[in-house]
Amino acid sequence: MNFNSALENIKSYEAGKPIELVVREYGIDKDDIVKLASNENPFGCSPKVKEAVRAIIDNMSLYPDDSMVKLKSALGEKYGISSDELIVGAGSDQVIEFAIHAKAHNGSKVLMNSVTFAMYEIYAKQVGAVIVRTASREHNMEEFYALYQEHKPSIIFLCTPNNPTGDALDAGEMISFIEKVDNDTLVIVDGAYMEYARFKDPSKAVEPKDLIEKFDNVLFLGTFSKAYGLGGMRVGYGIASASIIKALYKVRPPFNITTLSLEAASVALEDEAFVIECISDNFKEMKRYEAFADEKGIQIIESYTNFVTLSLPDAKNSSQIAQALLKKGMIIRDLSSYGLNAIRVTIGTQVQNSRFFELCEPLL
Ligand SMILES: *Cc1c(COP(=O)(O)O)cnc(C)c1O
Repeated sequence: MNFNSALENIKSYEAGKPIELVVREYGIDKDDIVKLASNENPFGCSPKVKEAVRAIIDNMSLYPDDSMVKLKSALGEKYGISSDELIVGAGSDQVIEFAIHAKAHNGSKVLMNSVTFAMYEIYAKQVGAVIVRTASREHNMEEFYALYQEHKPSIIFLCTPNNPTGDALDAGEMISFIEKVDNDTLVIVDGAYMEYARFKDPSKAVEPKDLIEKFDNVLFLGTFSKAYGLGGMRVGYGIASASIIKALYKVRPPFNITTLSLEAASVALEDEAFVIECISDNFKEMKRYEAFADEKGIQIIESYTNFVTLSLPDAKNSSQIAQALLKKGMIIRDLSSYGLNAIRVTIGTQVQNSRFFELCEPLL
């Protein structure tokens, strides 16, 4: 059968290997598997969230509140924005999909960093858009500007902090760049790890409210999947001028967020203390990774997220290391598909991290 020809050069997204598959393929006991591959919060979500979801379990037969009034007002309050400046997606992934489908079409150009979140390319290719990438591993605003001038892209992605490398842009530098971009170019600022960056270094913190007050061509993305520990509930959001949000609503399917997910995200916002505690622990544990890398003479990229990226020396092959760890029940991310001889490791609990060091010891 022939399919839309745009699909021919799309490679399906490769998610972190699920625990269920490792159990089946390697016969390892489920409890002996440690997954540090998808940047999930190792402490899960706030206990208040679990309690709230349990309390509404009987509502599963009813369609969700598609106005999302509870979640939208909680997010509106958190960020100091109004409901018409907000859209909620099944993960921020879905908001990326909305934005690309609303703005780009066959032949449009989409500009992004050399190494960045894989879904930008996949969604862009679905509509037949052409991908333009910078050369540097870290976001370089001069390079972005030169390529912007050359290609006049319809969308620019800025991922800060960036996945899978963990580095973050200086907020002021990013804003100076956006000031030079024309109004018909949609600039998408992906802040999936912004909670971590804000905690570690205020100069990296992007305030969505300031951004959309200043620019009506910017879409900020946030998610409940990382710091809030709700990856399995699939809730993310976009913050932008009302005119952008109105366009995104035209490509949104109805009831895209389930009743339980709406409740979980709303209640998660009521327990910010839990999130701050997890983030604080994250950076404490990250120091152990830095010390480990130092001891092994491995280069670590300074990270503003809940993961670290270890650039391996030529003598070590990232795919082989990842495979060897997998056989022992340790799931991490091999970055060879991004063109890097590197591995990305999510910061886990103290016990999980110790296990990682123990298993890596003979390999690195
Ligand atoms: C995890 C992630 C997302 C999307 O996560 P969702 O679970 O879809 O909300 C988006 N961007 C980056 C950079 C990510 O790492």
